[in-house]
Amino acid sequence: MLRAVARDILDRRDRLSGWKPHRKAFLASMRKDRESLARDAEDRLRRILYHAYETSPYYRDAWNAIGFRPSSSFTSKDLQQLPFLTKDIVREHKSTLVSERFRSDELDLSYTGGTTGTQTSFYLDHACAINRVGRQWGMLDLCGYRPGTRRALVWGVSDDLAQPGTRINLKRWFREYASSQEVLCCSVMNEEMLMDYHGRLLRFRPEVLYGYPYAITHLGRFIQEQGLEPIKVKTIVSTAERLTEVQRGFLQKVFGGEVFNFYCTREYGCIGFECRRHVGFHIDSESVFVEIIRDGRRADPGEPGEITITDLQNYGMPFIRSRTADFGSLSPQPCECGSPLPVLNGLDGRATDCIWRPDGSMVAGGTLADVFGDISSIRFSQFVQEKLNELDVFLVVTSGFSNETEKEAIRQVRELVGPEMAVNIRRVPEIARNPRSGKYQEVICKVNQPQRSTSTQRRV
Ligand SMILES: [Zn+2]
Repeated sequence: MLRAVARDILDRRDRLSGWKPHRKAFLASMRKDRESLARDAEDRLRRILYHAYETSPYYRDAWNAIGFRPSSSFTSKDLQQLPFLTKDIVREHKSTLVSERFRSDELDLSYTGGTTGTQTSFYLDHACAINRVGRQWGMLDLCGYRPGTRRALVWGVSDDLAQPGTRINLKRWFREYASSQEVLCCSVMNEEMLMDYHGRLLRFRPEVLYGYPYAITHLGRFIQEQGLEPIKVKTIVSTAERLTEVQRGFLQKVFGGEVFNFYCTREYGCIGFECRRHVGFHIDSESVFVEIIRDGRRADPGEPGEITITDLQNYGMPFIRSRTADFGSLSPQPCECGSPLPVLNGLDGRATDCIWRPDGSMVAGGTLADVFGDISSIRFSQFVQEKLNELDVFLVVTSGFSNETEKEAIRQVRELVGPEMAVNIRRVPEIARNPRSGKYQEVICKVNQPQRSTSTQRRV
């Protein structure tokens, strides 16, 4: 009761009061049928296009240049004639992308959590921010996580958290009390901190573990290896980083809870979430319109390509056909759970997270990240390509890692990257997270895609 009052105060202080109807609206969308959801998405798409054309100078100019004007007969098929939005465009044209209908005090400045390149800032209208909070609570409700549930947040973006090591002050204590959460910062996690985190979790008894899967896995391994008293939770929500199936199994075993993977970004909020069947992400189709783009055209259902988003909620700065650099495909079949929401499959890492073979072919980051799944003495791995014919593999290993294991590791990497690439194993005490995003980067590629040789083209 007291905590609920504190939560309302915190919502008001964060200017986030009013999210509850949006949670209700999201849960109601789960009871609609597919046809009416699809019709509704078309209406929402038309509305944001009209709004963008009328109030955002960037879109007006760009669409006038190709002779396009939104009309009442517009359908989602017609979206394909519109140009894509890229991070470069957002950076260069931010002021003209913003809707003229919004006052500056109605807009929140936010930053992309991009792991590569320069970080981009953008605006989110405040009503949209509240809406997203409510809808996300709706998704979490489906995983059994409701406001008031005790959550341990394992988070790495220092801007979102009080700096580690700062003394507990009253404001911070109130925030943690009101939101029923214990915050564990994972930007650095050494043994001393892990021991401290374990003690805090024992006292706090979280029902939900929430955050970066690599960091939660790291904590789980530490608890296991040190033989510490187990921490058991009902639910684990994985977000912000790619979750591998090996990690999912490990987390379920160590913490006992059911793992739910979320696909959220700073720009578009929660694009998708897992249902209890865990076979892909259900897309929140009242919030985003998803297209899969392959070779510049819209892919067929089941065909993989780049996930491209038209945001249906952020009227302050419309994002129309925005390229995410994430890969996936739309499932041709509805989910067996009975949800009417479409399903996004095979979310396979970001476009930049890949390695280029010298012949110009690509190795997906996801396959590399999973390559050492069977070698238990490898704790963490990171693949860095600085030159076309060389790959540095940074490994954090346990005492069980021998020269034989190293040979085996090289052999497995070679199978993926081919014989033309030199593979350098570098054992390190730890792998630093990206300082801007707080995310753990499995694959970093610093070379551009080489031209394919003619012989390769013929083979392909
Ligand atoms: Zn489902």
